[in-house]
Amino acid sequence: MRQATVIINQAALQYNLNRVKQLAPKSKIVSMVKANAYGHGIENSLSALAATDAFGVACLQEALEIRALGFKQPITLIEGVFSEAEMLIAVEQNLECMIHQQQQLDWLLQHQTAYQAQKLKVWIKLNSGMNRLGFKIDEIISVIQNLKAAGFECVLAMHFANADCDEHPLNEQQKQQFLQVRDACMPILASCCNSAAILKWPELHFDYVRPGVMLYGASPFADRSVHELDLKPVMTFNAAIMALNHIQTGEKVGYGSMVTAEKEMDIAVVSIGYGDGYPRAYIQPNSVVVNQKTLPLFGRVSMDMMTIDVTNQNVKLNDTVELWGEQRLVDDVAKASGTIGYELLCRLSNRPSRQIK
Ligand SMILES: *Cc1c(COP(=O)(O)O)cnc(C)c1O
Repeated sequence: MRQATVIINQAALQYNLNRVKQLAPKSKIVSMVKANAYGHGIENSLSALAATDAFGVACLQEALEIRALGFKQPITLIEGVFSEAEMLIAVEQNLECMIHQQQQLDWLLQHQTAYQAQKLKVWIKLNSGMNRLGFKIDEIISVIQNLKAAGFECVLAMHFANADCDEHPLNEQQKQQFLQVRDACMPILASCCNSAAILKWPELHFDYVRPGVMLYGASPFADRSVHELDLKPVMTFNAAIMALNHIQTGEKVGYGSMVTAEKEMDIAVVSIGYGDGYPRAYIQPNSVVVNQKTLPLFGRVSMDMMTIDVTNQNVKLNDTVELWGEQRLVDDVAKASGTIGYELLCRLSNRPSRQIK
């Protein structure tokens, strides 16, 4: 059988969740499991995240998948609903809604009685400078005060545009606006931390933290590895050596004949390609790990295969190739291909088989 396997280490997921608990002991944890738990698979991930306080997803479909699997924890729709019909389903399925614009507010008020009967909290989003979603600072206070007056329990929410970046001037503006709104609306629940902010700003943890990428053992920072952050990679993405070629000086390998052997070489063909979600683009040399040794890619990645330089290496057919995991960090593969670990994890295709460790 073609070897292309995604292994999910549930103990590592639990370890990372515990790290969040240690970092933010007073906050509730909304584990972000959008995009199929960052590509790790909802079912396998959620069973390992049983100790979380709640889940966060991007849309109703993702929330319904969680409910269909029988998980009863609170779920927050972090972009809220996209229609009035969705508001009805959200209420029925016990989903807390983000409200980021007037239309959603109208739908909420139309279904106020049902929403409140379920004791669902309302999340209200502040646009403090990222300029994607949310009410501006001059509108949000009256929105919240009206909701509170109507008997809703509110969570003030905000998202940082540069939490991964130490000195960005927008960070201070976003913090100040958030604090100002929170002060004006007290008492109110509050939530503004993704992984990077959880790690950097304990003073902003407030009532709910929203870890995503750190749960999966990838780093939110370009310059700090998961090992430095004491997090464990959850996903191991493996393939195997499916063919071995010995080539002569001057011979070329792969599509476009982009690479030429400058000496006699041994080339291993690996059973993985961009059709599985391995990136084709690269801006720096990239590598994999075979038998604990880091070996470079040689030639273009194709849809179903790629080729690596195994000259003078002790490798054989069917040896396991780690594309990313504990030895070769997904963040480093991402860097080599000009993207971030988040993207590589989320865009895996469903061709690799999924296993639990
Ligand atoms: C995805 C998301 C998070 C988690 O972000 P990470 O950087 O993965 O920790 C938190 N909050 C919101 C609103 C999100 O959309």
